[in-house]
This record gives sequence, structure tokens and C-alpha cells, in this order.
Amino acid sequence: MKEHYDLVVIGGGPAGTPVAMEVAKLDPNKSIALIDSLGELGGECLFQGCIPSKILEASAKHIQELQNLSDFGIELQEKHYALVWEKIKQRKREILQRRTKAAKDVAEGIGNIEIIKAQASFCSKNTIEIVLEDNTSLEITFDKAVIATGSKAYIPTYKGDGVSEIITNVEFFANMELPKDLSIIGGGAIAIEFAQILAAFGVEINLFIRDDMILKNIDTKASDIILKKLEENPKINLLFETSIEAINRQNDQLEITYIQNGVKKRLLSTKILSAAGRVANISHLNLEKAGVEYVKKGIVVTKALQTTNKNIFANGDVVANFPKFAHTAQYASHLLAQNIFLEHNFFKPDFSKNSWVLFSMPNIASAGLSAEEAKKQNLDVIVDSFSFNVEAKSQIEEEDYGYVEYVVERSSKKILGITIVHEEANAIAGEAALIVAKQMNLRELIDTIHPHPTLSEAFVMLAKQMMGKIMLQKLQNPFMQSLLRLERLI
Ligand SMILES: Cc1cc2nc3c(=O)[nH]c(=O)nc-3n(C[C@H](O)[C@H](O)[C@H](O)COP(=O)(O)OP(=O)(O)OC[C@H]3O[C@@H](n4cnc5c(N)ncnc54)[C@H](O)[C@@H]3O)c2cc1C
Repeated sequence: MKEHYDLVVIGGGPAGTPVAMEVAKLDPNKSIALIDSLGELGGECLFQGCIPSKILEASAKHIQELQNLSDFGIELQEKHYALVWEKIKQRKREILQRRTKAAKDVAEGIGNIEIIKAQASFCSKNTIEIVLEDNTSLEITFDKAVIATGSKAYIPTYKGDGVSEIITNVEFFANMELPKDLSIIGGGAIAIEFAQILAAFGVEINLFIRDDMILKNIDTKASDIILKKLEENPKINLLFETSIEAINRQNDQLEITYIQNGVKKRLLSTKILSAAGRVANISHLNLEKAGVEYVKKGIVVTKALQTTNKNIFANGDVVANFPKFAHTAQYASHLLAQNIFLEHNFFKPDFSKNSWVLFSMPNIASAGLSAEEAKKQNLDVIVDSFSFNVEAKSQIEEEDYGYVEYVVERSSKKILGITIVHEEANAIAGEAALIVAKQMNLRELIDTIHPHPTLSEAFVMLAKQMMGKIMLQKLQNPFMQSLLRLERLI
């Protein structure tokens, strides 16, 4: 280990690792320290977030498919299956190990990155104290640093001796125990994913939702479909407008005392998982000593992700108001790596055309603006949707519900936003992201030949449907009729 590094990156997740790797590749002479308390690369995304949750989702989907086999002309002789939970745990372990090893091999292979397993905190504007596994501590200095320490699950404050028993995604994925029943606190993306996946494995779910709706940051038209799916699920009990007061131990169970509609109620639960929001991992960093300003939501940065200490940048979940996804952190990493070499004229990430997938069943995918966001911004847009029930691939797969929706700028016909609700929306989310990022218009989509039969044909069909309606309106105008003879109709 050196006493001084050109660049120190704190955090080996999607916001930190790619920055270290890109800088190392851009300048092989730079000395780089990548410090992570786990000593493994991948962060929460790999070990307790995106990847393990989707590994479980993959198994849950197979169970769902089994239940629908008769739709495809296949009758099971024995109407039951056995869940080999140990095998699922082993599969998760293997995928995680494969991915973290691959990342470490690449990082170490570059030659100028030192991966250090330690807890880091600042001592001054250019000094970091690192505490190694054996509790020895030492100080290193840096020219530039990147803080990418991520976020953790928020656990609300309740009364009672059972509060310490509340688990988060971290403990769930560390132990991978399937309880008989689970109470989940939260009505957002992580809570819904956990509820649907674990219900498919037979866990009885109680979902404690503070508001009168789920997924409140998502377009209501899309979230209503998920709500219906949750309501139809016999394993999921939705408890809206609930305010939890206390959690107490009751023999080997936990008693949740909550208020709903002004009435005090009680519910016994084997386990309780909090998915009630996220808090930035800043408390142990001694940011004051580094002159890095922060607020409750995380580190304050400029549009170029520079903190109030001009030699320190921050990226990912630890940043206040950052879109909390692995892919936004990875996208910003690329620009941040360039910024490390600059003193001004920094590159600035643009999250306005962000895309994301909620891996609920069915998925919701989104790119750019939703109809509700466009309305809030008073934009002059046309909104239309195309239902998957008339789309060939969806009919073949017996997943012929859901829709794709466009938000189109009226004057230019540019597609400003796409929402997709479909069992496999994740498969076409990338194309939606590209359409929005490149600001394609309806005609450009119609002119792009899409293979048949695939889900992505829905993009062309919706574009044709919208252009057809626009042309019809024009044709109904006598003045426009004469002009249109000179123009291609659709
Ligand atoms: C259940 C769940 C499912 C999710 N699913 C998705 C999904 O499908 N798609 C998606 O895009 N996002 C998903 N996310 C969000 C995604 O995991 C995060 O947005 C992403 O991990 C943020 O990356 P990061 O690098 O900022 O932080 P992290 O991934 O949290 O990495 C931070 C790293 O910093 C280390 N660290 C922290 N403090 C210190 C310190 N003081 N010293 C040294 N090291 C430190 C930690 O050990 C960790 O390795 C999910 C999250 C959860 C919880």
C-alpha cells in the first residue's frame, strides 16, 4: 500500500468501480486505490440488491409459468412441485461469486488499481484514514477522490422491544431464510418486488403501506395494473393507510401494533422487513473534515458531481437527489472518469432521459417522461397507447395484457417518453431508452423495420396508430387536404 494516490475511490459498487477502472485505463501512470469495506467489487447492487433479487425473481417466474402450463397445452401429471430452496441459495451464491470475481480480475488486470478491504473516513481535505480488517488504521493522501459509498435501507422509528428484529434487504440476502410469513414495511419498488417474489415461494405477505396507494412515484395507469395483481394474489394482504406504532416480541413472533382508519389493530408476524426508503451512507465518513457539504438526503454536488471540495467528487446513491439505480451510477461513472482529468469544463450527466425497469410481475419499464410528468410540466403533448392483446408475440406467450404508451411532442412528433407494462417489459426497455435518448419521432420509428413476431413490434404499431390519427385529423381539414396530396400520408 502507498502513502499517496493520484485517485482514491471509496466504494466498490456501480458508482465507484467503473470510475476507478476507466481512469486506470485512460492513464496507466495514475495510482488508484479502490477502497471497499467488503473488499469485493459489486456493492449493494450485486450482494443485496439488483442481482440477488432478480435471481429470486427468475425462480419465482418459473413457478408462475408452471401454473400456466395448461394454457400451452401441457398438463402436469402430478399437480405439485417441490421448492428446493437450498439449490436457489446455491445458485445465488455462484452467480454472485462469478460476477465479483470477474470484476476483480478485470480491475486487477489493468495494473494500476489497488483494491483495499477497509473502512474509509476523511481526516482532512486530502487525507483519508483507512481501518483494515485487523483493526489497524493508517492514513493515505490523495490528489482526487470519489465518494461512492451508496445508501442503506431506512428503518422508521417505532416503540417496542421487537424493533431490533426488523431486517432489511441486507440481512435477508445474507441469511436467505424463507419465513412462513413476512410483514413488509413500504409500498415502493423494493417492497413490491419482495412481496410478489416471496409470495410466489409460498410466503404469506402483509404489506404495510403508509399511503392510500402503492408506487406513488410511478404513473397511476401503470401502477394500477400492479395493484390489481397484488389484490388478486391470495398470499398478499395489502394494509393501506397504516401507521405502525410499536413492534414487540411475543413468544417467537413479533407483534405489530398499528393504526388504520383511526382504529388500533395488532398483527402477529414471523419476520418484518423494512423497505421504507433509503438513506445515504455518509454517517461514518467525517465529511466535515474534508469540507464536503451534505444534507439529509446525501452529499451536495454540482451538475458535474463535484462536491464542495473541488478535488472530491461523489456518485451514485450517496448523492442527494441522485436517481437511485445501478445503471444511472454506471452512466455517470463514465463522465466522472473524464472529469477526474479536468479542472473545468466538466462533463455533466443528463438524467432527464433516464430509463428504468420495475421488476414486478408484470414489469413496468419507463424511459423519459410519463404522461403524468408531461402534464405536470404543462407540455403540449399527445399521449396514446397500444395494447399488447393485439400483438402477436404476446398472444403466443399468453401474456397478452399490458400496453406501451408514448408521450409525443405535438409539434415535432418526437417521442419524449415511453411506458411499458408487460411481463417481459425489461426485454424491450433498452429500445425504449434509445428511442427517447435519440429523440426519435413517430415517422422514424415507422421507417425502422422490426422483426416479426417480437414484442418490439409494438413500438412501430403504436407509432403507426398515432400517425394515422394525426393524418386523419389533418384530412378532415379542407385546407390541409390540398396540401397533404403532396405529402406522404403515414
Ligand atoms: C433490493 C434492491 C433491489 C434493487 N434492484 C435494482 C435494479 O433492479 N436495478 C437497479 O438499477 N437498481 C436496483 N437497486 C438499486 C441499486 O442497488 C443501487 O442504486 C446501487 O447499488 C447504487 O450503487 P452505489 O455504487 O452508489 O452504492 P452501493 O452499491 O451501495 O455500493 C457502495 C459500496 O461502498 C461500500 N462502502 C460504504 N461505506 C464505506 C466506507 N466508509 N468505506 C469503504 N467502503 C464503504 C459498501 O460496502 C458498498 O460496497 C436495488 C436496490 C435494492 C436494495
